[in-house]
Amino acid sequence: MHPSDVTGLSIREARELLDNGGVSSVELTRAALDRIGEVEPSVHAFVTVTDELALEQARLADARISLGNAAPLTGIPMQLKDNISTRGVPTTCSSRMLEGFVPTYDATVARLLYDQGAVLVGKGNLDEFAMGSSTENSARGPTRNPWDLGRVPGGSSGGPAAAVASGECFFSLGSDTGGSIRQPAALCGVVGLKPTYGLASRFGLVAFASSLDQIGPITRDAADGALVLNAIAGHDRSDSTSLSGEPTNYASCLDHGVEGLRIGVPREYFVDGTDPGVERAVREALVVLEGLGARVEETSLPLTPYALAVYYIIAPSEASANLARYDGVKYGYATPTASGMWEALDKTRQEGFGPEVKRRIMLGAYALSTGYYDAYYLKAQKVRTLIRRELQQVFGEFDALATPTSPTVAFPFGERTEDPVQMYLSDVCTVPANIAGIPGISVPAGLADGLPVGLQFLGPHRAEGTLLRIAHAYQQATDWHTMRPAPATKAA
Ligand code: GLN
Repeated sequence: MHPSDVTGLSIREARELLDNGGVSSVELTRAALDRIGEVEPSVHAFVTVTDELALEQARLADARISLGNAAPLTGIPMQLKDNISTRGVPTTCSSRMLEGFVPTYDATVARLLYDQGAVLVGKGNLDEFAMGSSTENSARGPTRNPWDLGRVPGGSSGGPAAAVASGECFFSLGSDTGGSIRQPAALCGVVGLKPTYGLASRFGLVAFASSLDQIGPITRDAADGALVLNAIAGHDRSDSTSLSGEPTNYASCLDHGVEGLRIGVPREYFVDGTDPGVERAVREALVVLEGLGARVEETSLPLTPYALAVYYIIAPSEASANLARYDGVKYGYATPTASGMWEALDKTRQEGFGPEVKRRIMLGAYALSTGYYDAYYLKAQKVRTLIRRELQQVFGEFDALATPTSPTVAFPFGERTEDPVQMYLSDVCTVPANIAGIPGISVPAGLADGLPVGLQFLGPHRAEGTLLRIAHAYQQATDWHTMRPAPATKAA
């Protein structure tokens, strides 16, 4: 195989070639970097490309492979979303506020992947501080959807999803606070897994909403997702919310099929405004699962319509507290022209943050303020508990739920930027999982108007094994996950 053909392989296929000497990690990395050179001018999935570091890591990986000491991800080119700290590599959150910021430490997930010998080819573009559903809020300019350069890739992990879809890396890590792994994965035709809250360490993830944030893999198929999850899951003493317990080998969960599994289909997730093509693809996928022996049944989760409102109180409230640290004193942007401390603080924040981040900070500060706290924040927390209980209860009856990931396929640039509520509605199917802390996965399930449709599975806490198993069984029976966009090499 010619090394330039390798960028479309799955991690497992690349692993096999690396292990049998068919390709070296340096060749694989060069192929990924060439691909980046080809498609970046039109897709713009990267904030930083780390070519020198990548080739150095690839050489080390080759040495390790030749010693017969390879881990599953040794020598595999990856990207990390640019809100995941990487020592010595700029980590900007696609914000002017952190332009040029170079962390002095690695996020735990980055360290775990480096320990396996994965190769960092660069950092993925995102909506500023991960706030958004389209990657249009990036201070570094938007990422384009490789399926249609006139459309958004989803967000906030638009860079990671577009990079994996266009063969610029074999996997990426995203963060998911309200859907930011699953929704862009859906819109770009790749697999996105949000683990149970606390399964993967958040140490070194730049905080947006700490009770909701979770890191997870974006891959081409479910089996690759299992390999990446194996690498990043596990207790971390540096993250007090990280879960303890025995590690699971997710790769060994894949092959059990879906025979006898009970899959619920909550009707509230087919909201008004769902694209008919999305609904059709999801319903067809359910028929496939039934054919494989799953017991698929309609169910109801009446509190679902409140999830979005709860999310858009809690997430901005936490964000307003987390983003108070950007004061121009300790690190990040500082205004060059100010007289006195208060003016410096004001101007730094006015100039450093983009409009959506400011909107969230104002919303959050309002919801937390004296006199409004009980009406907004406290009430949202109470409804959060009810939503969590409702989901817990439904998992007494079902092993998993199946829903659309997003009500629509990728939308054109600018379509929702004037109306934040329209943008927030993109998250209606994904936020309940974050509110309840449960895992969710999005897998490609067909095309509507030539654009990828995402099918979401949700499960109870720590049911990643079940979700991957269902997704894998579905992918054994269908080939939607093998669809690739036509090479996007020209600007729209
Ligand atoms: N789109 C949601 C928001 O704007 C979710 C973002 C995320 O998951 N990081 O907040």
